[in-house]
Amino acid sequence: MSLLQISEPNQSARPHEHRYAIGIDLGTTHSLVGVVRSGRADVLPFGDTPLLPSVVYYGDKSDTPVVGKQALSYDDPANTIISAKRFMGRSLADIKFSHPYELVGTDNAMPAFITAQGEKSPVETSAHILARLYAHAKASLPDDSIQGAVITVPAYFDEAQRQATKDAGVSIGLNVLRLLNEPTAAAIAYGLDKSAKTGTYLIYDLGGGTFDVSVLSLKDGVFEVLATGGNSALGGDDIDRLIANHFIKSAGIDPKSVDNTQKASLARLAKSYKQKLSERQAVSVDVEINGTPFNTILTNETLAQICEPVIRRSLQSCEQVLADARLDKTAIDEVVLVGGSTRMPIIKQAVQVFFDKEPLCSINPDEVVALGASRLAHQLINKDDNNLLLLDVTPLSLGLETMGGLTEVIIPRNTPIPVARRQTFTTHTDGQTGMVIHVVQGERETVADCRTLANFTLTGIPPMKAGLARVEVTFAIDTNGQLTVSAMEQTTKVASKIDVVPSYGLTEEQQEELLKAGFVHAQADKEKRMLIEAQVEAEREILALVSALGEFAHLLDDTTHAQLNNKITAVKTAIASNDKAILAVAVNELKPLSDHFASIIMNQNVKQALSGTKASDWQ
Ligand code: ADP
Ligand code: MG
Repeated sequence: MSLLQISEPNQSARPHEHRYAIGIDLGTTHSLVGVVRSGRADVLPFGDTPLLPSVVYYGDKSDTPVVGKQALSYDDPANTIISAKRFMGRSLADIKFSHPYELVGTDNAMPAFITAQGEKSPVETSAHILARLYAHAKASLPDDSIQGAVITVPAYFDEAQRQATKDAGVSIGLNVLRLLNEPTAAAIAYGLDKSAKTGTYLIYDLGGGTFDVSVLSLKDGVFEVLATGGNSALGGDDIDRLIANHFIKSAGIDPKSVDNTQKASLARLAKSYKQKLSERQAVSVDVEINGTPFNTILTNETLAQICEPVIRRSLQSCEQVLADARLDKTAIDEVVLVGGSTRMPIIKQAVQVFFDKEPLCSINPDEVVALGASRLAHQLINKDDNNLLLLDVTPLSLGLETMGGLTEVIIPRNTPIPVARRQTFTTHTDGQTGMVIHVVQGERETVADCRTLANFTLTGIPPMKAGLARVEVTFAIDTNGQLTVSAMEQTTKVASKIDVVPSYGLTEEQQEELLKAGFVHAQADKEKRMLIEAQVEAEREILALVSALGEFAHLLDDTTHAQLNNKITAVKTAIASNDKAILAVAVNELKPLSDHFASIIMNQNVKQALSGTKASDWQ
């Protein structure tokens, strides 16, 4: 006779089965948490909606932070932090968009919001949102069953922004299994890897504060992100501001006379009118500006005109990402819509017209990212990889500085990650015992035109002749997009290593700038690079000559010695002239003399080697 399994309320019969991992979409506007249970991914609703407004109130009407919908009820914009995500991993200098907050910080570090409850960094604000989501998941699942979380980030997030996100998770005791790019999460949610053998997909994600566009290629059930792009300062919030400005202008009021508090509440009203317009053709508007009532009828037609700059910029990003992937838009098999703003009929239509294809929107565009994150989280704790290979790409090239301030690219942009690349470098001068490793990001040939990520020095290289040391530099990017750079001298195994965590990140505009600059300056950069390479080479030759003169000058007659010195001076002057033609002439004139000198040294060495041997030995 077999026994039945004992089962008590709140007590798991088979505790090992109750292991869950949660997926978190930490959105600019809304955040969600989801989980896979019995093979099904679901978002966990807060009452009637799964959307937790990504808002934290730090006002004096409460002595603890208030997170979510309730935080929106205070009408105190300066202490109500919305869109904290836009500030993540940014420096004061990076924050160029308008916002109602008082910030404190330096140009090189993430600033904090000054609130009635003290200074709060964007990481803390994000942590408060994550804590609320985590608590909600804990309350919805059996005790101690949550093993960890996957948190999504925009594909464009750089190292600093990813690190800030991870820090926020870790700070509340969350086991962050992985950071996942939002478009990749959407692809997983749609199961695009399983629906067909091959395909090319474009993910169009227009949220509240960010626009992300990615091209994914599917081959044999495995998908790869071919290219990512977008604009981290474009979204529904901009539409709300544009509508609010439209109201102000239509009311004949000078926008300068309307204060930030009022603009923010007008934008909130604009948002609700906008959302109503997703269900119907027109809404009647009834607002008050500077104490004056303003009434009008807002139609989808007018809304399309108001939104034109946002739509245009999003489609420009689509064109850019297609160009990056070297694809024509006709090569896209499916377009996937993600993000609350893609509920707007005018957006759907603009995308449909642009791609000449009806976009996929069967999964709720608010939930799709959280659902994909939940699926990955589930796979990660169940080690059920199921052939699902997630490949993300580096948004900008990563490299280091070589002699003459040139950039040596180690990992080109759009390289799938995780990735590790090695390259060997050597010393430039005799007896050099240290080497500065200057890590840069960007598309330009010279370091001055790229962005510095980190600087560190490898010391303890044994003194050797120039060119003999072998320093192997490794760039490794993990699945979270975090970069580690290490350097090792091969003969002595002296090593040095740094996790590249810059104190502030690049804005999307700066990334775009760096990319554009790379294209615009390509020809000039190439010439500059050739000049610098020639200069470095000439310098190296002169160093070697001077070093040889120190040892063997006595082998030269005075005239030849003087001639050689003259030509060396001439080359030095030519290097300083920054003219490639002049340098080539000087180097050419030095060559016969330096060749002559080299042959004298060689003869001398041969003579020395032969001394003690008889000429007859060589016959
Ligand atoms: P994020 O990922 O940036 O947090 P979401 O994907 O949650 O953003 O999208 C939020 C944006 O979607 C907001 O700007 C919101 O106004 C907009 N939005 C949500 N629902 C609708 C709707 N029904 N019609 C139009 N816009 C909507
Ligand atoms: Mg989103």
